[in-house]
Amino acid sequence: MIFHEVLVVGGGLAGLRAAIEAHDLGSEVAVLSRVHPVRSHSVAAQGGINAALANHPASQDDTPEKHAFDTIKGSDYLADQDAVELLTSEAPTRIFEMEHWGCPFSRLDDGRIAQRPFGGAGYPRTCYAADKTGHALLHTMYEQTLRRGIKVYEEWQVVSLSVADGRCHGVVALDLRTGRLEAIGARAVIFGTGGGGRIYGHSTNNITNTGSGIAIAYMAGVPLKDMEFIQFHPTSLFGNNVLMTEGARGEGGYLRNRLGERFMEKYAPKAMELAPRDITARAIQTEINEGRGFPGGYVHLDLTHLGAAKILERLPAIRDIAINFTGADPITDPIPIQPGQHYFMGGIDTNADGASLVAGFYAAGECACVSVHGANRLGGNSLLETIVFGRLAGRHAGGYVKGQGGEAAGKGAEKALAKTMTETEKRVTWVLEAAGPEDPADLRDELRESMFANVGIFREEKALAVGLDKVRELRARYPKIGIRNRGRKYNLDWARNLELEGQILVAETIAAGALARKESRGSHFRRDYMDRDDASFLRHTVAHLTKDGPRLEYRPVTITKWPPQARTY
Ligand SMILES: Cc1cc2nc3c(=O)[nH]c(=O)nc-3n(C[C@H](O)[C@H](O)[C@H](O)COP(=O)(O)OP(=O)(O)OC[C@H]3O[C@@H](n4cnc5c(N)ncnc54)[C@H](O)[C@@H]3O)c2cc1C
Repeated sequence: MIFHEVLVVGGGLAGLRAAIEAHDLGSEVAVLSRVHPVRSHSVAAQGGINAALANHPASQDDTPEKHAFDTIKGSDYLADQDAVELLTSEAPTRIFEMEHWGCPFSRLDDGRIAQRPFGGAGYPRTCYAADKTGHALLHTMYEQTLRRGIKVYEEWQVVSLSVADGRCHGVVALDLRTGRLEAIGARAVIFGTGGGGRIYGHSTNNITNTGSGIAIAYMAGVPLKDMEFIQFHPTSLFGNNVLMTEGARGEGGYLRNRLGERFMEKYAPKAMELAPRDITARAIQTEINEGRGFPGGYVHLDLTHLGAAKILERLPAIRDIAINFTGADPITDPIPIQPGQHYFMGGIDTNADGASLVAGFYAAGECACVSVHGANRLGGNSLLETIVFGRLAGRHAGGYVKGQGGEAAGKGAEKALAKTMTETEKRVTWVLEAAGPEDPADLRDELRESMFANVGIFREEKALAVGLDKVRELRARYPKIGIRNRGRKYNLDWARNLELEGQILVAETIAAGALARKESRGSHFRRDYMDRDDASFLRHTVAHLTKDGPRLEYRPVTITKWPPQARTY
């Protein structure tokens, strides 16, 4: 059996940052990822990462406290304010750390890190590396991982988490190259497994963002938090939903409808194109639904007035993507865009240490819900979350394995892991041999389309009930799937269909949470309950898996300095 003191699952920013921290504190650490680390979705992040550095001429009096307020208002007051204060006060230190590790940020003439305006922010505080910020950050982080000699298992997929007596004992993972299943024991396991955008159709996410880690934790009895809050990004390319960063509007881009109007003046007269994402995505969709979009369903992101020099310096990747996929050159032509699924605000229920209810099991990054984004995340805060809370999860997991918790975890670990291995082997073999009449690709497509249509940007009771019924129907059809490829080596048909059951279960928590939340807050907009209802719903949804689907509980939100107010921009 393989054993590591701390096992990190996920080679994105959160996972690598956690691994570095646990290593530096003296733990023996390994990282396991189903793709090469720099192919994680973090690499695709474009627009930037927030920190109140006050470098921009217009942000001289910016502070972490103002960053916290913007984040809390952006969250529609659902974020836990103590966690947000931790996020924003840590931000400058973590950015300078990335800078010292060699991250090639874009710079001002005097050499300081450049910052651009982003949605919902009172000051320009988004640090960036042109429009390839995730690329710059992830490669820097990977270099630090290599430098420390941390072992990385590449192209291994975790399929289950071993939990017994309230403790985590390791994972069972599939070595994709050989098709061999291995039990990996660990005193502490940290998930940095990313979001589940691909449970939805029309997503900006990497195809590997299946929500796999969220599902594995949920199936092992770890509760999920605030799953109904799904972010739809206002500007993804019409047709294929490749992201067009918010940085394009941060640099001064306009949104225009078919009549040429800058319609944001109706929805957010002060913030205009830099209103938060929930408001801007709904504004675009309203223009399209009411007939002021272009045929097929899109509006324009217009950068033509920015001039070639600015576009080539600040938004070169956006220009390339627009030309390659639509033929429109943003220097001379407007870009056709529509909202697309983008981000999971909810996830594995953790505290600010990354700890879950299961001793020795931690999560950080997009798969986790601390919560710092509440009902709507501000652009630039997710990359920040990965490095702040990835580090803290690594720190606490490292402390746990050295302390009594780690010793206690050692006892009975082998037995628990052997049991998980036997159960997992059965399930994994069943999928490989499945010969039923249902094509799992159909199930996946139906799930995605239904989630986008029924549990999407605009919601109401009837459609949500249809969405929930659909999920339950798919759950009933899953045992009848058949797969085509029965080889064990690098069989992605097998690997994907192993995850499908978990995706359906995660989708069920989203639909059930959305149906039960009879109010509108942030990204969760109910046409039948248009107002925020603090008296009944200023609380987190916590979903526990049962035989009959999720059991929902509610938990209070931590309010420190900022009582909820009306949210206008
Ligand atoms: C196109 C795009 C642009 C974005 N731009 C920005 C931006 O400018 N600013 C910002 O703040 N945020 C941005 N975001 C959001 C942000 O990039 C992500 O939320 C963040 O990078 C997630 O990092 P992570 O480390 O949590 O997960 P990821 O980077 O998604 O990494 C997940 C890792 O987990 C591994 N994994 C998953 N499941 C398994 C399994 N079962 N077994 C083994 N390994 C597994 C994967 O291999 C991968 O290594 C953007 C997102 C997208 C999609």
